[in-house]
Amino acid sequence: MQMLWAGTNVLALIWGDKSGYLAAMATVFSGLYVIPCMFMVTRSFVRNEPRTVAMLDLALSCMVAVLVYQFFTKLLSGPLASNPSSIYVVIYLADAIDFSMAFMAILRFFGTRSFRWRFFYYAAASYLLVNAIVATIYNRVELHGLPWWAGSLIDIPHALLVLVAMRQPPRWLRAFHPSLTVSQTIASFAPIILSMMVVMLGVSASRISFLPGLLVACASVLFYGLRVAFIQSRHMDMQRAVDLSALRLEQQVGRDPLTGIANRVTLDTRLREALEEGKRDGSYCSVLMIDIDFFKQYNDSLGHISGDACLVKVACALSGSQVRARDLVARYGGEEFVVVLVDTPAETALDVARRLMAAIERLQIVHPDGPHGRVTVSIGVATQTPDMPMDPMDLLDAADRALYVAKRKGRNRVEVVGLVTNDPPPASNGMDKKRGTLT
Ligand code: GH3
Ligand code: MG
Ligand code: MG
Repeated sequence: MQMLWAGTNVLALIWGDKSGYLAAMATVFSGLYVIPCMFMVTRSFVRNEPRTVAMLDLALSCMVAVLVYQFFTKLLSGPLASNPSSIYVVIYLADAIDFSMAFMAILRFFGTRSFRWRFFYYAAASYLLVNAIVATIYNRVELHGLPWWAGSLIDIPHALLVLVAMRQPPRWLRAFHPSLTVSQTIASFAPIILSMMVVMLGVSASRISFLPGLLVACASVLFYGLRVAFIQSRHMDMQRAVDLSALRLEQQVGRDPLTGIANRVTLDTRLREALEEGKRDGSYCSVLMIDIDFFKQYNDSLGHISGDACLVKVACALSGSQVRARDLVARYGGEEFVVVLVDTPAETALDVARRLMAAIERLQIVHPDGPHGRVTVSIGVATQTPDMPMDPMDLLDAADRALYVAKRKGRNRVEVVGLVTNDPPPASNGMDKKRGTLT
């Protein structure tokens, strides 16, 4: 823009400019440089920022340029031009805009973590600061008639920009690294500076161009509100996505991939919680350790794929309607499952165990090498009582020992730690009627 401005001036010098058309164009170009500068120093450049927000920033920067141009031309031509204070208003406003942009570029420089952008803001800050100083001097010198050397003042910032761009970036620029908090604060702070500058400009301009000034000031506030609304809505979307993926991840981590029921990770947490709850409330908590009988033979005769399908069916039957929603059915490993029954004494746990055996029996999964011709399970039950608190590993160990006894006594039965039961297990098609017994 500045080169177009200088170029238009040169053309006016060579060709002459009787109509003043080229001079007017030069003035437009001299004001237009505000658009990219303002846009660059006030944008947040966050990668996932909505495009609409960038469009709003650009629109606001354009509004500033139009307003500045209109404001200046009104002050410098027409009836107001004869008022000596008009020129001072123009000069002070130009100073305010130039120094604000330089200040913003310096601030952005200190808040940029990527080296590329830091170099960009280093160059922009050098240019804008020197430009603001030179413009301040030039405008005041111009009041008393320009001396021969004044024209070259304007070239200083441009020459500096070329020098900065062509030289190797200084070493300290690479070493300097602001913290994430500083960087984020400055990036979030930048847009409000733009809006504030535009409001101030709109208010100043409204004294001369009432409606445009007021409109620009209102637009600035409105755009800032829209920007915040857009960003907030995007953040809410992102937060929802993060929550959802965290939930999915949690579910994946805590689920057994084959059967879809809880795995050891969930079991450890939930069992600890259930036991703590039992200790706190003085209630019982039981665990059932369930193991499929002769599963190795099942695999050997029907293959591992069928074995996997069998595990899925058993897991479904266990986690079906046989237990309450607050209880937990987990795959402990291999062909072993654990059921945690909260607030459940040993007698009730035994009933549940029998119901589960009956549910598996109803599946009628053929086991060619099993003694019953169908898949059966053995179950060991252990309970934490209010007067005997246990830790999770001890309780699981007790249930495992009961399971071992059930296996030793012939399988397809329940064994309960510390409880005598003489009830037969559920009726089966030709299966033995085994008893649940004291271990
Ligand atoms: P018992 O009645 O004493 O429990 O005998 P068992 O054959 O069931 O027990 P054992 O510990 O000898 O064998 C368990 C078998 O379970 C061996 C292993 O191949 C099988 N197994 C473990 N995990 C899986 C699995 O994820 N899929 C399949 N298909 N088989 C599995
Ligand atoms: Mg086993
Ligand atoms: Mg087994």
